[in-house]
Amino acid sequence: MTTQSELLVIALGGNALRRKGQKGTFQEQYSNVEETSVYLADLINRGYKLVITHGNGPQIGDTLLRHDAGAKIYNIPPFPMDVCGAETQGFIGYMIQQALRNELKKRGIDKYVITVVTRVIVDENDPAFKNPTKPVGQFYSREEMEKIRQQNPEYVFVEDKIRGGWRRVVPSPDPKIIAERYAIRTLVDAGFIVVASGGGGIPIIEEQGWHAKGVEAVIDKDLAGQRLASLINADRFIILTDVDAAYINYGKPDQQKLERVTATEARRYYEKGHFAAGSMGPKVLAAIRFVEEGGKEAIIAELSQVTQAIEGKAGTHIIP
Ligand code: ADP
Ligand code: MG
Repeated sequence: MTTQSELLVIALGGNALRRKGQKGTFQEQYSNVEETSVYLADLINRGYKLVITHGNGPQIGDTLLRHDAGAKIYNIPPFPMDVCGAETQGFIGYMIQQALRNELKKRGIDKYVITVVTRVIVDENDPAFKNPTKPVGQFYSREEMEKIRQQNPEYVFVEDKIRGGWRRVVPSPDPKIIAERYAIRTLVDAGFIVVASGGGGIPIIEEQGWHAKGVEAVIDKDLAGQRLASLINADRFIILTDVDAAYINYGKPDQQKLERVTATEARRYYEKGHFAAGSMGPKVLAAIRFVEEGGKEAIIAELSQVTQAIEGKAGTHIIP
């Protein structure tokens, strides 16, 4: 059944890959991706073109630990963060290619899924580089932390008094341009389902305006997904997560679900601090930016309700 040919950019949240309480075995993550693929295949079956992006927080956390353990146990030189980001894009992309392609074959849909290792250009003068905020990797004792800092004087650590220990923090700069945007759009036009900009993309800067270089930073995956959606002219940008909508007064007795709001209204709530930084905040900001940059509609919804959300029956809809 092919009735639609809209292009949707879908941002998958943490729960699409790994659930609370899971250890993170490959089988657990792959089973979650198989479940997620059923929802994605429902959309493809309706004729939508899809570009899929996803988070990688817990996955890159584990990858950094593997590199760390490899260095300690086998003396294998650890890779920098941008390379670890590329590793996670590869393995998560593999899971989606395999599980979604299987689901499509099962349904007799002749579509292929392909992952693009995606770099995202950030501004080397982004104020985030002077104020790293995003905790990554393992917890260290004060002694371990000081030893690492002797070898890497540029590293910044913060103490987590609640969980006990020191953790490295890295900058979270704003995504500017998705370096692989033309390749992604070309693959979409050729009929591929594309997985791109995983984990917010691999952050790169352009020295002297042209020379690309990976940096130790983390880009928010919803903000990067928005840049991608706008740059490839997606019809709609859809953020899927583990809560059914964005709320104002969230968690309070008078919390209120936002069903349909203009970008202007959403910005007003955003500026009043209704959406927590690091979780719902960047989602709402990404949705607002998509509409402000000419997109028709951005949706924030629960993963299992994606079909209803696209039909306007679930989730938060941000419109011009
Ligand atoms: P994901 O991993 O799916 O990308 P996050 O876990 O970062 O997403 O963010 C989703 C979480 O945001 C929800 O589980 C919810 O607890 C939290 N949240 C914070 N503020 C709000 C709000 N105003 N409305 C809805 N959820 C909110
Ligand atoms: Mg989460």
